Amino acid sequence: MPELPEVEVTRRSFANRITGATIQGVRMGKPLRWPLQCEPAVLVGMRVRGVRRRGKYLLIDLSDGLLLVHLGMSGSVIFDRHLPPAGVHDHFDMVTDLGTLRLHDPRRFGAVVFAAGESDPVAQKLLGHLGVEPLDDGFDPAAFLAGLRQRKAPIKQVLLAGEVVVGVGNIYASEALFLAGIRPTSPANSISKPRVAKLHAAVKDVLSRAVEKGGSTLRDFSNANGESGYFQLEANVYGREGAPCRVCATPVRAIRQGQRSTYYCMVCQKR
Ligand SMILES: [Zn+2]
Repeated sequence: MPELPEVEVTRRSFANRITGATIQGVRMGKPLRWPLQCEPAVLVGMRVRGVRRRGKYLLIDLSDGLLLVHLGMSGSVIFDRHLPPAGVHDHFDMVTDLGTLRLHDPRRFGAVVFAAGESDPVAQKLLGHLGVEPLDDGFDPAAFLAGLRQRKAPIKQVLLAGEVVVGVGNIYASEALFLAGIRPTSPANSISKPRVAKLHAAVKDVLSRAVEKGGSTLRDFSNANGESGYFQLEANVYGREGAPCRVCATPVRAIRQGQRSTYYCMVCQKR
């Protein structure tokens, strides 16, 4: 599943090249998770002003509105001057004078949604609840601590919920908790201030390293097998059930939390 680093890497892969393009046509494939919310013809003639990211959404700013793109479970976006004819899993093609933007999504949990602007109810429904961006300056230790103090759910699930800080997915949550020495099942409001500070630094560290390394390999985005990623190669705990902890050699444990796998070391992450 594409996580924040993959979405950010995707954004960087085409943001500069598509900026300034004029939309010439839109082709829709099979229905995606949510409808486009406008007739495709409405987009024709609009100019692309830039591409931002909010959480795991790509925000394509247009001269008269906004496209929100989500990659879902298995989606990938490509922008190129010359693309092959749309295949069975290509469900959105936006043709511009600078190239075609294509969403490839075998499982169709992704979506492209048009909104009049970011404050439009359509956009707010998707973006309104999102927490601060982990890689922005607004994500500071004090605000993070304040957010965790209000929540008694297990810390791993609070991270995944995205309301305190957005975009820390399953892989990166397990890795950040390991680096901070925090047990994933600990209630969020029970974690001491110094350890919250360590977790804050660990979240920034794992995500920025993943963006630097290119997220998962872009190639893997079209692989529908779920949580492939860069950390499968270099992870401390993620996906390493039974393997020796890289710090203390205790076998890494796997548990289920909210239907997701969590990996941790009993010794390095005591509470
Ligand atoms: Zn250990």
